[in-house]
Amino acid sequence: MTEASHSALPPGSVIGILGGGQLGRMLALSAAELGFVCHIFAPEGDNPAFDVAARHTAAPYEDHEALSRFADDIDVVTFEFENIPDACLAFLKERLPVRPGVSVLSTTQDRIDEKQLAQSLGIKVPPFAAINNLDDLEKAVTDIGVPAVLKTRRFGYDGKGQTIIRSDSDLAQSFKEIGEQPAILEAFVPFEMEVSVVAARDLSGNLAVYDIPCNHHQNHILHTSTVPADVSPTTARQAAQIAKQLAEAMDYVGVFAVELFVVGTGNEQYLMMNEIAPRVHNSGHWTSDACHVSQFEQHIRAITGLPLADPVRHSDAVMTNLLGKDALDITDLARQSGVCIHLYGKQSARDGRKMGHVTQLTSLKSR
Ligand code: AMP
Repeated sequence: MTEASHSALPPGSVIGILGGGQLGRMLALSAAELGFVCHIFAPEGDNPAFDVAARHTAAPYEDHEALSRFADDIDVVTFEFENIPDACLAFLKERLPVRPGVSVLSTTQDRIDEKQLAQSLGIKVPPFAAINNLDDLEKAVTDIGVPAVLKTRRFGYDGKGQTIIRSDSDLAQSFKEIGEQPAILEAFVPFEMEVSVVAARDLSGNLAVYDIPCNHHQNHILHTSTVPADVSPTTARQAAQIAKQLAEAMDYVGVFAVELFVVGTGNEQYLMMNEIAPRVHNSGHWTSDACHVSQFEQHIRAITGLPLADPVRHSDAVMTNLLGKDALDITDLARQSGVCIHLYGKQSARDGRKMGHVTQLTSLKSR
């Protein structure tokens, strides 16, 4: 069901964004282009979104007085990362529209809930089992086999909170490694390639799906996204269909990404869902440079009730993340033609930290 009636927020309206990282920063920049004002709410720390937004609040997500003042100032609220405490969104929901909705967040924060949602829609996922203790893990390893991936059920990102189980693994040690928290064991998928589908859904239920990139990771962190991915038109259509099914089932409003494994080749090729990100996504950063309307603007359009734009791509693109010290000197990158540079203005260039990205554009070969 979609919200029954709506009108677009007028220019000058205030968008609240929970989270102060690079995604919030790029959302705020796009919102400003459309004449909106952003108020970022994030705990104290290095918050690159603060630098580009009209207003910010630095306070814990549990601070209801600060949240109350934030709510008084804004017309709609969204989030740029999924690990926002439930109580924070539940509090804001009583005061103003939260887009995407609160139930979306609780489903996608939990790796088992999101896999069960996918299964209920007929979307393939790796064989998995819920793990609450060592006995569960021993049984699941027998049922699922090895290699397998043990992941925390909640709060994992960029490969944090996960470990591979092999035939010689000490299971007690593996469970310790992930903090002996509620977890999921998944069969290790022998994928050909990883892709993602980034899409937006508006308040009326219209969907706009970007072309799917192929994603390469290094040390569990996204390294490059290359679009178009070298998949068959059937696989690309399947990815779009998966996005549509999930978005409709969650009555989603805004941009989201679905990370997918491409398994098999030729006519035998199919997709398995890895996870859903209920927000703009690193594998969609190329849209800022290779499309007329980026994922960031598309999200702002969706949550403010504006129509979505055509997600058409005008160039081929390779997006590469700049990690740690890679981003300290961009002189050589700045000399190259067709390279679009985006730095996030973070204060400390810790090893492996996402500091920026570049998109290399080339002329469109195929769609
Ligand atoms: P995740 O945090 O679930 O996105 O996992 C991070 C990365 O680990 C993925 O992008 C894959 O490269 C790899 N990975 C995660 N789950 C599996 C799996 N079940 N089989 C194979 N590789 C996986």
